[in-house]
Parts: sequence; structure tokens; C-alpha cells
Amino acid sequence: MSETTPESTVEMETLVSLCKRRGFIFPSSEIYGGFESTWDYGPLGTELKQNVKRAWWKAMVQERDDMVGLDSSILMSPRVWEASGHTSHFTDALVECQNCKRRFRAEELSDHGSDEEQQSAAGACPDCGGRLTEARQFNTMFKTFVGAVEEEASIAYLRPETAQGIFVNFENVLTTTRRKLPFGIAQQGKSFRNEITTGNFIFRTREFEQMEMEYFVKPGTDDEWYDYWRQERLNWFVRFGARREHLRLREYAPEELAHYSVGTTDIEFLFPMGWDELEGIAKRTDYDLKRHAEASGRRLDFFDEESGEHFVPYVVEPAVGVDRCVLVFLLDAYHEEEVRGERRAFLRLHPALAPIKVAVLPLSRNEKLAPTSRQVWDLLRPHFMTQFDDAQSIGRRYDLRP
Ligand code: ATP
Repeated sequence: MSETTPESTVEMETLVSLCKRRGFIFPSSEIYGGFESTWDYGPLGTELKQNVKRAWWKAMVQERDDMVGLDSSILMSPRVWEASGHTSHFTDALVECQNCKRRFRAEELSDHGSDEEQQSAAGACPDCGGRLTEARQFNTMFKTFVGAVEEEASIAYLRPETAQGIFVNFENVLTTTRRKLPFGIAQQGKSFRNEITTGNFIFRTREFEQMEMEYFVKPGTDDEWYDYWRQERLNWFVRFGARREHLRLREYAPEELAHYSVGTTDIEFLFPMGWDELEGIAKRTDYDLKRHAEASGRRLDFFDEESGEHFVPYVVEPAVGVDRCVLVFLLDAYHEEEVRGERRAFLRLHPALAPIKVAVLPLSRNEKLAPTSRQVWDLLRPHFMTQFDDAQSIGRRYDLRP
């Protein structure tokens, strides 16, 4: 077995087909031939995704005494993205094959590193060996127009991350909750990135959902909290079913850091295509609050009663995609076994994530069992996601086909 396919890590195609067959995830717009790596969550997938979000919310907000939630809008003033640096810096380096015209993110072709390194490492097209163009920067924010007139002045962006909604509400949250440092603001919601390349099922898509938390701390204590959140987030994945040996922390080299970060660690997962980012934990310093304070003219700082000082808090941010979490939990839950000569596939999901908690399966539809089993089902439904099925005979209940 190679390093990238350890035992029980299922091939992506096997998982994609199980997800389709069982109603977890369907290709979007399928009756029109699909659309640009977009995916729709089916009946079981919707439950699983909600449960993943709930498990995160519970661990990050409900179970803690230092956290509050937020639900900010997707469309925001374009000034938000000017101030945060996204309009100028939220770019990917794009290279194109001059022969087959396939496009790549330069990052895909090199093994991390700076833009210059990525460009020189790019070399030849991995598909056809053709010459690649020079890398050019491509802003991955989706543009749209607000209102009836499609003109420059009405351009708005679909948010590429949920974090900025938190920074621009810092003052609102602070004055309404009277929090003391350290404290965090957590948010879940859709983000959009016009990715150059998508793929690997729900790993990289242009529309996806994020779970982000900005943890505001006293300057000088951010290293400590950075270590804390790296460990805490790693533990969360293990708690809900990811295998520890499929997870690792990878600290960024200085030249890899985003414009807002002085330190970033990825929690990487061993996907069927190899190790890749599952979650990023970044030290964002006071960068975002300072930029928004400068651009808006508002004072976005914290008054420390003990020292009598005003200062701008530093921030540690764990940011993860819901869809990548769903993928990880599905991959590590996937099992196959042989029972009496037949192979079957099943998912060993953590009970908190499992879409259906209780199934009511009467062994026959006789006069006595039928009403009783329906009563049992009525009693259970308010408390659990349930399934009822009286259509199958006793023989089929023991059918072992996958
Ligand atoms: P990548 O290097 O994979 O493009 P990133 O470093 O740009 O990701 P962040 O900006 O740190 O990603 O976003 C935080 C998290 O959001 C990622 O760790 C990932 O789980 C998720 N995410 C980011 N982009 C996508 C995407 N296009 N599709 C699905 N999930 C995504």
C-alpha cells in the first residue's frame, strides 16, 4: 500500500458513488448534465451536514464560556473588501497550458512556496507536457451588481470568507455583550470563490460553507492561544470520528503566509488524493481591526479596565470548510465487510453526526404490529431523526447486499 492510500481509506470514486446511491450528495443540475463541480446535498447528506455544523457550534459556542455567535450577511459594502485587502490581494496565480489550454493554480504544480517559486516550479503541463504561460494573478472574488443598473458603482462581491463579517461587527458585539478578553465570535455560512480549478468531489468548489471563529486576545498572548486552538481543533476532528493517523499539523513557511497572517498552521488530512488542507489556523494580529478602523473612521479597540488602557486586540482564527469536514467524516466512516460471502459497505459515523438516529422496522404488517409500531414511531419522532419502514418482509431485513 502506498502512503496516500492506507488501509480503509476509500477511493474517491467509491465514495462519490455511495453518496449518490444513498442520497447523501448529488451532482448539481444533473438533469442538464451537471454544472462546474457544484454539488447538492440529498436527504441524508443534508442531515449529516447539519449535524457537522451543530457539532462545531456545540463545541465552539455552546459548551464554552468565552464565545458568542454571529450570522452576518453575504453581501456587504465593497469598502469592507477594500479595507481588508481582498480587492488587491485575494488572488491565485493562474497558469495556462499553451497547447491543451488547461488551467492550473500555480500552487498545484509546485509543492507550496512563494509565487515566484511556484512559477518557476510550474515547468511543463502535467497533462500533455506543453509549455505553460507565465503565472498571472487572478482575483477569486465573485462580482455581482446590486440594484437594477449594471455599472461600476453598483458592484458588490459575494463574500469569499465569513471572517470579515465578524470584524466589521466587533464593536456591535462588544457593546451588546460586554465581553472581556479573551473571547471569540463564531460564525457559519456560505462563502464563494471563483476558484481556477475545482474538483476532488466536495473538496474544492466555488460555493461552499465555512465555520470560522475569530478569537480576540491581549497582544502578546496570541502565541499561547495559537497553540491552544491548533490542539483544540485537532481534537475536535478526532472526537467526531476522524482517524488521528490521517491528521497532521503543517506550519507555513514565512513566504507562504497570506497578507494578514504572521503565522499559519494547516490541519491536513490524508485524502485519497494525498495530504491536503482541512482547516487553517492563523495569527491575524490586529491587522483586520486596524484596517477597518482606519477605513471607517470608527474606533475598533478594547478598553482594559484593569490597566486603564485602550488597545486593539490580536486575533487567532481557526477557519474550516463544512464540506471538507463532511468529506473527512465520510471517508473515515467508510467501511466494507464480508458477511457470509457477500461484501457490504457501511458508514461507521459518530452518533452525533449520523443522519438517522433510530429506525422503526416492524417485522411484518400484521394487525397487531402495524398500529403499535406506528405508535412507537410517533413517540420517537419529536426527539430523534427517525426512519420508518414496514414495506420489507422479514427475509429482506436480513438482506446483506450493500
Ligand atoms: P486552499 O489552500 O485549499 O485553497 P485556503 O488556504 O485558501 O484553502 P482558507 O482561506 O484558509 O483556505 O479557508 C479556510 C477553510 O475553508 C479551508 O481550510 C477549507 O476547509 C475551506 N475552503 C476554502 N476554500 C474552499 C473551497 N474552494 N471549497 C471548499 N472548501 C474551501
